[in-house]
Amino acid sequence: MINQNKLEVVKSYRYLGVNFCTTGKFHNSAKEAVNKCKQKIDAMWPMLSKANLPKFKNYFVYLDSVIISKLMYASQIWGTENADILEMTQTHFLRKLLNIYPPRAANFFLRLEMGRQPIHYRLMYSNIKFHYKIYNMQNTRLPKILMHELDQYNKADHGGQKQNWLQTYNALLSKYGSSVEHIKQIFGQKNKVALKNFMTTVATNLTNHDMKLAMESNSYKYYVNPFITHNPPSYGSATWPIHLRRLNAALRNQSQKIYLGKNKKIQLYKFETCPLCNSREKYSLYHILTQCEMLKPYRVQSACQSPCYPIDQYVQTFSYLSQNQLKYIYNLLFLHVSQMELTM
Ligand SMILES: [Zn+2]
Repeated sequence: MINQNKLEVVKSYRYLGVNFCTTGKFHNSAKEAVNKCKQKIDAMWPMLSKANLPKFKNYFVYLDSVIISKLMYASQIWGTENADILEMTQTHFLRKLLNIYPPRAANFFLRLEMGRQPIHYRLMYSNIKFHYKIYNMQNTRLPKILMHELDQYNKADHGGQKQNWLQTYNALLSKYGSSVEHIKQIFGQKNKVALKNFMTTVATNLTNHDMKLAMESNSYKYYVNPFITHNPPSYGSATWPIHLRRLNAALRNQSQKIYLGKNKKIQLYKFETCPLCNSREKYSLYHILTQCEMLKPYRVQSACQSPCYPIDQYVQTFSYLSQNQLKYIYNLLFLHVSQMELTM
């Protein structure tokens, strides 16, 4: 009862833009937020494409400041357990930016290629920031009182009780060898270095996790050390025309469908053997770039000018391509598609 009025019992309630559910879980709020962000990305995409921004970094500024900051609003309260759902927003953006599929570029591949941290990292940051805010509040403030009560409650053993916010936060910290008490100590000592080191540990752990997934994945079996490293490949920070950067991403993703511009694309999965020459060789990029008879007159013969392709499906060279090498590959692929159009 509030002011003599009986409060209505509802299944969910929207407060400050966040849907609160009777279950105390926020899966649905997270999904809803992700869908809204994806729609926003799609709606903005034609404008973003036209803007023709020089670096991928410029697109990430938009992603971080407009999309993700909206997605993560108050997520220190509701997002911690839904990091994987929230991550789908970033994946959606990166896939659109690189335009690579199939195979559908895996989330970890996209992040490693572009040197992006998972949303998880931001969640950790916003949780700690929120904790710091409460830490500095006067003892009479409600959030501080509630935090204290949660702490007392958690210290008394309540057996299989539902997880509360403080437990979730503590569990998140303990994944990286820390705890609420540890962070409180850091706050008490105003130890900025310790905090910075902790966030570096989080970042390294997350990247290592992505690398582990990449190593174990069947779709990226062709990646052998050191092709995937902590340092993203250089095309990610280059100012080359976007079609060349996208081509580089597609090559590294071993895409079976490669876009070369309006209505021009290579679909490797469509044919077993090369549809243009009689070589009966497997229809692959290796064939097109190095073997196909039809392209012979256009290949650079001098060894120093042409990129050398190792047998390992040339991932090695694809990771250190120069703009000129990429242009060369692009031209060969473009010619190949044109030849296909003329013959079919
Ligand atoms: Zn051929």
